[in-house]
Amino acid sequence: MSKKPTTHEFQAETKQVLDIVVNSLYKDKEIFVRELISNASDALEKLRRLQLTEKDVFDDGLEHEINVTTDDSANQLTIQDFGIGMTEEELVENLGTIAHSGSKEFMEAIKADGEKNDALIGKFGVGFYSVFMVADNVQAYTRSWHAEGTGQCWESKGDGSYSIQPAEGQRRGTKLVIDLKEDFSEFAKEDRIKEIIKKYSAFVQFPVSVNGERVNTVDAIWMRSKNEIKDEEYEEFYKFQANDYEAPLMRMHFSADAPLEINSLLFVPKRNMEKMGMFRNENKVALHCRKVLIDPEPKGLFPEWLRFLKGVVDSSDLPLNVSRETMQDSDLLRKLNQVLTKRFLRFLAEQAKKEEETYLEFWKEFGVLIKEGAATDFTYREDLAKLLLFESTAMDAGKLTGLDAYIDRMAKDQKEILFLFGKSRESIEAGPYLEAMSARGLEVLLLTEPVDEYLMQTVREYKEKKIVSADSEDFELEKLDQEKDGESLDKKKTKSLCKWMKEKLGDKVSEVETGERLIDSPVCVVGGDGMGGASARRVMKMMQGMDEAMPSPSVKLQVNPGHSIIRGLSKLKDKDEETASLVAAQLLDNAMASANLLDDPREMIARSYQTLEKLASSGS
Ligand code: ADP
Ligand code: MG
Repeated sequence: MSKKPTTHEFQAETKQVLDIVVNSLYKDKEIFVRELISNASDALEKLRRLQLTEKDVFDDGLEHEINVTTDDSANQLTIQDFGIGMTEEELVENLGTIAHSGSKEFMEAIKADGEKNDALIGKFGVGFYSVFMVADNVQAYTRSWHAEGTGQCWESKGDGSYSIQPAEGQRRGTKLVIDLKEDFSEFAKEDRIKEIIKKYSAFVQFPVSVNGERVNTVDAIWMRSKNEIKDEEYEEFYKFQANDYEAPLMRMHFSADAPLEINSLLFVPKRNMEKMGMFRNENKVALHCRKVLIDPEPKGLFPEWLRFLKGVVDSSDLPLNVSRETMQDSDLLRKLNQVLTKRFLRFLAEQAKKEEETYLEFWKEFGVLIKEGAATDFTYREDLAKLLLFESTAMDAGKLTGLDAYIDRMAKDQKEILFLFGKSRESIEAGPYLEAMSARGLEVLLLTEPVDEYLMQTVREYKEKKIVSADSEDFELEKLDQEKDGESLDKKKTKSLCKWMKEKLGDKVSEVETGERLIDSPVCVVGGDGMGGASARRVMKMMQGMDEAMPSPSVKLQVNPGHSIIRGLSKLKDKDEETASLVAAQLLDNAMASANLLDDPREMIARSYQTLEKLASSGS
């Protein structure tokens, strides 16, 4: 066996991270301790799980613990764990590349974000490489748990390369020997290291000692009773567990005995990383059984749309030595999922009532995921619908209301919950549909996010009230008796105008009729029934993209006999049919545009030039 060290280049991306880390001015250098202790703890955790099934583990009797020693005079810090250790290949893979979550997230964030690299180091920790903020040289002595093989020593100065050579007489696990840069001798001081470990690693589930003295209490905060726990303790635990630098936005500490024995501590982060376009949230609620970790990221513990949750779920009903795979499709997990999801939704509903401001913050960040749930998860549709917030004609711009509050405000004879969809509140207000609702004192929810309309199409109903678009014909409008007699076209003329317009517009409309909805606008379109409705078509359009081949919508055109344009048109059609046809076509396009249904404006633009030309030449 050769004892010569082999030298390796770091992967290009790794070099980039190292370069940033080494040159960063990030001031809280101490976070490297948190990163290394958490790696040691991960290695022990993996070993503990392995030992449930593996008989042949090297150094099997070693304690599950982490030992830190400081040497002030040598300016050196060592961190040793008796965890799973690494083989030579694993050293190359794990410490030579950044395939691992810590530094990978960091790189992704750098790419996605214009933020200062320094700030990002604090947020993401940079994993193992953070040690090079303070170290001149790092040696990782390690021996894998496999019975075969030998110990290895990995060494690097954090520049472009590292070396690996065999090392005899290693115990299982990993020992990092860190030669500190001169400026960072503070990290070779016992008191300073103790202080840091107490701060960051209070929740490590293995004993940590500094120079032989135990510094942490292995304390499962979620098993303790609520009124004994201080806010700061919760906060520290969250930061540790979620690897977040900010305090959480909400927390729910909840215990139950039936139908399952559950102790859980769930957190909602302040920010939705997904919204910032960084990466998809991953559910990081760890599953424990009587304080023992079963799975740090169990699949299926929560529905997809709750993927922003962090924290811990502990259930003594879980079998201890079950493999992750069988766990994932067990009935027990499904039951846990049901109980926890119901409970968490109830918690959100309570927050919406009691902590309105916090809930609004939550909504701003995570509302999109609640909508995703309401639109896709039939099981919780009603509970999720309860949490939805929208702008509304009953509220000032920027203020939001929920469906329950809407129902409270409904007049006795109002049957439906009404909404209108548009690009913005202003564009809905300027469109032709709202006026009929306002005239009748009906409140309308104003939807402006592309997903909203799809959402309403799938939710469809809340507390036995249908949810309908105000431009659909699914609901009837009461007649208004403020007809402006005399000013309005009479029934006969209106009828003949409608007939003439239908002839001119052909297949573009299914019908032309008198509109109940119109007060100030000359025309509007309304969709056919059900899935033929304008609202449904916009949803289709959204889902298929702006497809040219969309079947032309069969909308009804409604005209307002009281409007001067309509009255004028009725006369014009008998005098100058050609111009009248142009006006009729233009009216339809305007109505389509107001309904967000105009796919291609080219034809309309060409025609409006024709009209303008006529106008201009009539003046000459
Ligand atoms: P992360 O912990 O997010 O995976 P790190 O950069 O902190 O990323 O660590 C990189 C990888 O190196 C880890 O995933 C692990 O496989 C390995 N590693 C680091 N420290 C240890 C250790 N003490 N024992 C065993 N493996 C380790
Ligand atoms: Mg790590």
